[in-house]
Amino acid sequence: MSATGPLASHSLPARGTTLRTALWWLSVLLLLAVPPWLLPEFQVTLLNYIGMATLVALGLVVMTGVAGIVSFGQQAFVGVAAYATAALTVLAGGSPWLGLAASLTLVAAVAALIGWVTLRLSGHYLSIATIAWGIAIYYLFGNLPQLGQYSGIDNVPPVSIAGWAFDSGRKSYLLIWVCALAALAAARNLLDSRSGRAIRALRFRAAMAESCGVDTAALKQVVFVQAALLAGLAGWLHAHFLRFVSPHAFGVNAGIDYLFMAVIGGASHVSGAVVGAAIMTVSKEWLKDLLPKLFQQTGNYETIVFGVLMILLLRHTREGLVPALARWWPVRTQRPPPALDAAPMPRRQRPARGTPLLEVSGVEKRFGGLVAVKELSFELRAGEILGLIGPNGAGKSTLFNLVSGTLPGSGGKVRLLGERIDGRPSRDIARRGLARSFQHVHLVSRMSVLDNVALGAHLRGRKGTLAAMLRSDRAEEARLLAEAARQIERVGLSAAMHDPAGTLPLGRQRLVEIARALAADPLLLLLDEPAAGLRYNEKQALAQLLQRLREEGITILLVEHDMEFVMGLVDRLVVMDFGEKIAEGLPHEIQQHPAVIEAYLGGVE
Ligand code: ADP
Ligand code: MG
Repeated sequence: MSATGPLASHSLPARGTTLRTALWWLSVLLLLAVPPWLLPEFQVTLLNYIGMATLVALGLVVMTGVAGIVSFGQQAFVGVAAYATAALTVLAGGSPWLGLAASLTLVAAVAALIGWVTLRLSGHYLSIATIAWGIAIYYLFGNLPQLGQYSGIDNVPPVSIAGWAFDSGRKSYLLIWVCALAALAAARNLLDSRSGRAIRALRFRAAMAESCGVDTAALKQVVFVQAALLAGLAGWLHAHFLRFVSPHAFGVNAGIDYLFMAVIGGASHVSGAVVGAAIMTVSKEWLKDLLPKLFQQTGNYETIVFGVLMILLLRHTREGLVPALARWWPVRTQRPPPALDAAPMPRRQRPARGTPLLEVSGVEKRFGGLVAVKELSFELRAGEILGLIGPNGAGKSTLFNLVSGTLPGSGGKVRLLGERIDGRPSRDIARRGLARSFQHVHLVSRMSVLDNVALGAHLRGRKGTLAAMLRSDRAEEARLLAEAARQIERVGLSAAMHDPAGTLPLGRQRLVEIARALAADPLLLLLDEPAAGLRYNEKQALAQLLQRLREEGITILLVEHDMEFVMGLVDRLVVMDFGEKIAEGLPHEIQQHPAVIEAYLGGVE
């Protein structure tokens, strides 16, 4: 391609996109059409195995690599689907297409049930549970006489369309790779969408995602079922391509192999699934031939050698092979800038200035024996900036967590616009118009600044995972991204819009958090030490921004250490020490308040 550089890509977006799309389709067609006729049957079979494994690994790239849910048990879903379609077609004489519908339905139901039980388990317990169900299902297949016990079911019919049967390796290749490529495209689309941003926050930033309105438990369940469906599709293909099923293909070893594939390829891109599946499948085959010759006796040496290779590989490429390969593949398509002319999103009705917005009464929080917030009450009216100050450890951040629903309280009431919000989940409080930043910055560091900020607008969109996969979400997505870009511009970070958020200096990451909160179109903004880490002139700019927000009718609750910054900005102050409110008033009153002077000067700091 000759038209590169920022100017070219801005002035010729349509031509560039058309050319890319055309090239993409051309390579897809070549990939589908050429290998079956050029390669020997054996290698076509190998490619078929890679295609089926790609489907399973792809589910894991999204579920484990991106969302952080580690499963050793995907082979169980492959097996359930393979057995379901084999039983239906061989034992009941149904068509393979009926088998597809039945096996995917069954897998979805089984996964929904297993997910409902195991996704509540945290960390390692979940992974152990996946091993347990993998073993259980293996023995179930092996012991049921109706399913042929350990010899399985054979004579499974091939899939056919209008009388044309996929009854050879070469023909199956087409079916398998159409499925694999479609799944890759769908997964790529999914990760680049409103739901995709939320999925990418699941692994390390679930609390933040909840504060943006994401129902993380439901989303995990969706990701889990979708990964199972991909495994199920692979199982259906497996049964009709190999024409028999037996439990041995669905043992725990297979589950570990699938997980390895996802890890080797890496989760930085969905193509990690193909890379991982190809490397695992080909090198296993190759080692199986090579090692017995090398050792001059037969044996399962490949498993041992494989283990060692894995360890070496992972030592050097933690992120998987795709980022490493991408270094030799410098054609990076620059993301187009958001279309700022996209129709703006509707905005919330703002309460009249002076309306009581937030009422905190008698709020308490105990951590074991420590009372972090004690009997605390104050009120915030619409259009005000209230500063919350106090020495380190006074309980300010804890209070923020109680008000925003990030932490459950131990007592007291919180009302937003007159309605009780204490005890509600933070996503529900976000829906009512509260947005917040975190003292310890909570960004998805690999994700661009733009995507991080767009996550803040999550509740202003509607489109779900299916719309994302089919790309029918583009109009809404353009509006969400345009909204995010406007907020990024407001905090002065436009130049860094496409940078991974984690590469910014800490002070600027705080600004990204503010932009994210603003993208929610909040009524009430909670900012926890937003100016920490900013330079003098950046602080001035931030103070001006906050003043402009107040003029627009946004109410702000602000925790800040920099007294000069606070005093010039806020309307009123609440001072906390050891979890209690020790003073409340106008800035000049607070500066002369004896208890405040005592707390600040007599404190241990
Ligand atoms: P501030 O933001 O005013 O500096 P914090 O709200 O972070 O203060 O902390 C208030 C007190 O509560 C501190 O003593 C802190 O150690 C304690 N604390 C905060 N979070 C937790 C927690 N998750 N578990 C136990 N103690 C906590
Ligand atoms: Mg704090």
